[in-house]
Amino acid sequence: MGHIAGDELLQQVAERIQMQLREVDMVARLGGDEFVVLMENVGHYEHAARVAEAVIHALSQPFTLCQSYDVVIGTSIGIAIHPQHGDTIEALMDNADTALYHAKDQGRGCFAYFSEDLTQKARERIVLESRLRRAIEQQELRVYFQPQIDIVSGRIIGAEALVRWHDPVEGCLMPSTFIALAEETGLIVAIGEWVLRETCKIGQQWLDKGLPPITLAVNVSPHQFRRSDMNALVAAVLHDTGFPAEYLQLEITESGLMDNQKHTASILNRLNKQGVHLAIDDFGTSYSSLAYFKYSPVDILKIDKTFIDNIPFLQGDMAITATIIAMAHHLGFKVLAEGVETPEQLTFLRKHGCDMYQGYLYSKAVPVDAFMKILTDTQM
Ligand code: C2E
Ligand code: MG
Ligand code: MG
Repeated sequence: MGHIAGDELLQQVAERIQMQLREVDMVARLGGDEFVVLMENVGHYEHAARVAEAVIHALSQPFTLCQSYDVVIGTSIGIAIHPQHGDTIEALMDNADTALYHAKDQGRGCFAYFSEDLTQKARERIVLESRLRRAIEQQELRVYFQPQIDIVSGRIIGAEALVRWHDPVEGCLMPSTFIALAEETGLIVAIGEWVLRETCKIGQQWLDKGLPPITLAVNVSPHQFRRSDMNALVAAVLHDTGFPAEYLQLEITESGLMDNQKHTASILNRLNKQGVHLAIDDFGTSYSSLAYFKYSPVDILKIDKTFIDNIPFLQGDMAITATIIAMAHHLGFKVLAEGVETPEQLTFLRKHGCDMYQGYLYSKAVPVDAFMKILTDTQM
């Protein structure tokens, strides 16, 4: 199509690449049809793959040249990371070039890292991300419920809502396989919103059926605090489902509470005013002090499973557990022990005045129907 069309294509390619980058990133044309992108402070190595995917996608759309020809081009990208793949400019450029040849070997429209295992991991994550996006749209997520038991009366007083992903191919996937990715990509906001809405909807159905009222606990990721308006979401969900605020409890991890403290505190105070209960999840795993939570509107402290695991074998963990219970009570919190698996653990917790527990000893998290059966069989 001649030089003019070629120049125009190069210009449009450069523009589209730039559109996918931050202000601070650098794009240069090395010569011919080769460009180089330099990105500093990418954070996680996988971020480079996400940008590569975005660039490949942007360049896969047709170009119009000289206002008349439509052309389609293919893109391959090689990635080298400093310092793993070289700590001089020459070494990085050479290794990015080698990676580019690996990418081309795989066919057009691919990226590759200089090392095979990074390429593999990054590609798997990108596939998982798009499947997860689809899972939300196609209603493949489910809420399971795990009973929470009052230690003195032995009755179910609540349940924790735990998300599961029913993938049509891989079956039931646990949160450990997808929550971290959902947090990195921001998908957690949509997932968290869905879980909250679904839980309140189900809770209201149980109340309508005349089941005894129990507290439903929903996990909230710190990302939801940062990226969405939790107060507005909770208000909307309670309004839409009719579920009473007093039966809703939000679980926030200790580490989540510690970052961005001012912002988090104001959201928690408003949630408290909205009538919702608050619990600190995984307590004991971070470096926060109990005294810090003294003035926060939290009602329940959940002692992390890692402490419970070592009862009755590790004196240290038993001392910590007993101390957390005593201190929490002095500060006016209720205490729930997570991950209780043996009668010995329960005996220890009872002896030290722990208020509630959940764990495999009583039941795993189960689907809605199974939970309803447990609730009717034991409480009615
Ligand atoms: P978590 O909130 O601390 O939930 C407790 C986890 O411990 C659950 O795992 C539960 O099934 C498991 N568990 C309970 N009792 C026992 C026991 O006796 N033994 C053992 N080995 N495990 C027990 P699960 O459902 O896999 O959830 C893992 C984590 O994923 C949760 O930890 C929570 O941080 C996160 N997660 C689950 N659902 C959601 C959600 O809807 N939103 C957000 N943001 N995170 C969620
Ligand atoms: Mg939890
Ligand atoms: Mg926990």
